[in-house]
Amino acid sequence: MGEAGRRSKRRVILKLSGDCFSRAGQSGLDGESIGSIAREVADAARAGVQVGVVVGGGNIIRGAALVRSLGIVKPVTADYMGMIATVINALALQDAIESEGVETRVLTAIRMEEVAEPYIRRRAARHLEKGRVVILAAGIGSPCVTTDTAAALRATELDAQVLLKATRVDGVYSDDPEKNPHAVRYEFVTYEQILEQRLKVMDSTAISLARERGLPVLVFSFRRAGNIKRALLGERVGTLVAEHLPEDVGEPEVVL
Ligand code: UDP
Repeated sequence: MGEAGRRSKRRVILKLSGDCFSRAGQSGLDGESIGSIAREVADAARAGVQVGVVVGGGNIIRGAALVRSLGIVKPVTADYMGMIATVINALALQDAIESEGVETRVLTAIRMEEVAEPYIRRRAARHLEKGRVVILAAGIGSPCVTTDTAAALRATELDAQVLLKATRVDGVYSDDPEKNPHAVRYEFVTYEQILEQRLKVMDSTAISLARERGLPVLVFSFRRAGNIKRALLGERVGTLVAEHLPEDVGEPEVVL
């Protein structure tokens, strides 16, 4: 029997963008924001959900922005700086989740043995089986992609049932809701529609990978208290991205 066959527990990958770690509109780290996310993750883990968390780093460094603001000559250098920023977030999250009494492991795609374990797929799976929250840092360990792609990749290789993307907005909109007040929020969209209409959800590499592997993605706001826990436990919050609307989710409010 395969790994997935032996496993009856819900396993998810939660992508936390760097924004989750700071106060709204600010950069850096904010203890209160990190603490409340940690509580929701810890609650879900205690309820038996196997949780892998892929952390972003945009609250500290975002590669492209750094190239502009610091005049960094090699964009890949900025990307490596961005990956290291995710490790800082991962350690902050680890501390906060463990202070809730739930065991965690940080696994990093860029080796730094003194700080965290290296990312090894089978080791990550084993930690998840043991009920530890696995925090995945440093993206995929290579430049030119974002942590969204890392999240889609890890969700695929770790056989997660769904990729949960916690972000600033509460789902997928027809346009940027922070700029266009007439933007409409969708309950369900297909991968195809996101790619064709260039809807800003995740980068196209991440969406393409999700489509290829039939990995459903739930996009929702981390700003609404309780949303992360609800999503982790299987509630449909925000917008579902998939090939077809699953039968068990009821009628959507708006379908693209
Ligand atoms: N990054 C990278 N490779 C990866 C993941 C991240 O080069 O596999 C770099 C990239 O420059 C990115 C930065 O790290 O801008 C921070 O990650 P991201 O922008 O995805 O963070 P988020 O938007 O989720 O806060």
